[in-house]
Amino acid sequence: LPVPIVEGYQNLKEQIEMSQKTHEFQTEAKELLNLMIHSLYSHREIFLRELISNASDAIDKLKYEAITNTDLAYKEENLEIRLIPDQQKRTLTIRDTGIGMTQEEVIENIGRIARSGTKEFLKKRQELKDSPELIGQFGVGFYSAFMVADKVTLHTQKVGTQEGVLWESDANGTYTIDQSPRPEGHGTTITLHLKEPSKDEDETSQDFTEQFTLRGLVKKYSDFIAHPIKLNVTREEEKDGKKEFIVEDETLNSQKALWLRAASEISKEEYAQFYQHISHDWSEPLKTVHFKAEGVIEFTSLLYIPSQKPFNYDYRDFKRGLQLYVKRVFIMDECEELIPPYLRFMKGLIDSSDLTLNVSREMLQKDHQAARMRKAVTNKIFGSLKEMLQNQREDYVKFWNLFGPTLKEAIPTDPAVKDKVQDLLLFRSSHSNESTTLKEYVERMKPDQKSIYFLTGDSLDQLKQSPYLEQIYAKGYEVIFMTDHIDEWVGTQLGEYDGKKLLSASSEDLELESEEEKKSKEEEKKADEQRLKPLLENLQSALEENVREIKLSDRLTESPVCLVSASTGPSAHMERMMEAMGQKLPPMKRVLEINSKHPLFESMLGLSPEKQKEWAEVLYDQALLNEGGTVSNPQRFAKKMSDIMISASKSFQ
Ligand code: ADP
Repeated sequence: LPVPIVEGYQNLKEQIEMSQKTHEFQTEAKELLNLMIHSLYSHREIFLRELISNASDAIDKLKYEAITNTDLAYKEENLEIRLIPDQQKRTLTIRDTGIGMTQEEVIENIGRIARSGTKEFLKKRQELKDSPELIGQFGVGFYSAFMVADKVTLHTQKVGTQEGVLWESDANGTYTIDQSPRPEGHGTTITLHLKEPSKDEDETSQDFTEQFTLRGLVKKYSDFIAHPIKLNVTREEEKDGKKEFIVEDETLNSQKALWLRAASEISKEEYAQFYQHISHDWSEPLKTVHFKAEGVIEFTSLLYIPSQKPFNYDYRDFKRGLQLYVKRVFIMDECEELIPPYLRFMKGLIDSSDLTLNVSREMLQKDHQAARMRKAVTNKIFGSLKEMLQNQREDYVKFWNLFGPTLKEAIPTDPAVKDKVQDLLLFRSSHSNESTTLKEYVERMKPDQKSIYFLTGDSLDQLKQSPYLEQIYAKGYEVIFMTDHIDEWVGTQLGEYDGKKLLSASSEDLELESEEEKKSKEEEKKADEQRLKPLLENLQSALEENVREIKLSDRLTESPVCLVSASTGPSAHMERMMEAMGQKLPPMKRVLEINSKHPLFESMLGLSPEKQKEWAEVLYDQALLNEGGTVSNPQRFAKKMSDIMISASKSFQ
């Protein structure tokens, strides 16, 4: 068999051994490597995150093995990940004191692409060729080294063995593997022979041998890795007028995976510091929610409710979402998939043990794990809010004033959580100046009261005085006032609470009277109708364009008129809001209710039909003003009022 002559190898035996040491990469691995080397230019820096994460895992594995295998002695103070840049040789070495690998393990782990990614990768091969940046979605891990290096050397030794393994590849489809003792003992050293930055790179090229670059990348991606990431740094110092270079060890990461510590061991200050770190807010959080989910999905979450609104909260550029970590490695910021929009005020993070390090936003959108995490986080937050409402009412009111309108969005947008959220709602009501929950409202309901009454409008003062409430007040019933924009939807979507219908005080049927009461009033109403008939008919024809019907009112005791909508249709407030947003609803004719006991109608009966028609318009405008609306033609309204005043003044002379 002809054996290729390899330079430096003296005899045939050695040459044969050498060729045996050369292995082919698995086909998919070859393809993946090719893509990585030749087509992927953006996000190259993530290679460091990947390699540090592997090193950290290796240290974790060693610690875990040592629990059951007492032969595996290691020194805690030796556990570290070290970055060794060499600017002359243009190499970066990442060295760990972890568990290491045997030769079989190297072939198994490094010769193939990560098992989880293989199948997906094969499916998407073509897609990837067109957009190689999607590569990050796959379990590329170790291979990402080839994004920045054209040759990689891996020197590893499994704990408890004496044989080191030297692996090397320039990614041309083969790798070599050799035995070579590792002077440092167990652990892994990966040396990257860095590529010259190519001209067509679309990213400002970074120098991965620079202290400054490495420090920044560790802070950005690996700060909370639990093991120290060390770097030898050189610093200039002036001593007696002479410059001196001082070389010392620097630990680049804070190692504070605060969220992984037991809540009982974390002080309020530590929680607050961490909040400030991730939120860029200087105030203390209003509430901290720290929990660990175990079972179908495993993750730890540390969440905060801010005590003030972020400055850009109400603007478009406000970004919601949590930070996502996978096994302590920072993956991405502002991860929207982890929290529903109506909880967008929450700050914090999730650290998952189930997701892969290469998880992308696109993957998260479809990922079941992410959906489950979102659900678990949502429920946990609801639980904390409920507890806060019960035990720290003052804080809860503070929260509510800041973020209540946001949380309320859950009612019209997410029916699945309605049951939980409805008990977290606070409202102002006619009962007192304090806010009330629906539960508290129901507890105060009168024995004969069937529905929960609410009224929407722009301001509390205006609502309190509303003529719609006259009869409801007369009954001694309480009314909920809703002044947030979203309330209109909340009111209708809630539908009912605790078996009681939520009824807008401006809807047609207020269900205020019992059957007997209705009957006994029936006679009286009929008589009134008969008496006012000519006037009512005249008003109806005068206002034909504006109102659907003219009816005698059960709700008014003091005001002469009001307009009401069908209980199923949009209220006047809703129509005005939609109009303000540029979405004019098709005009809905409403019912004009008339207070037949009001003396005005008695006197109007005596007027000529023409005068009655003229006044009809003023009555209608009055009704509009009463509900907080505007009249369509203010000049005309004012003129008519003056005319009426002139003629009225004549009767006083
Ligand atoms: P992943 O980390 O997603 O499994 P990688 O390609 O990054 O995929 O690594 C493949 C495997 O190689 C790892 O699962 C691990 O078993 C092994 N490995 C990688 N780096 C190291 C290291 N520094 N020390 C020990 N084992 C390692």
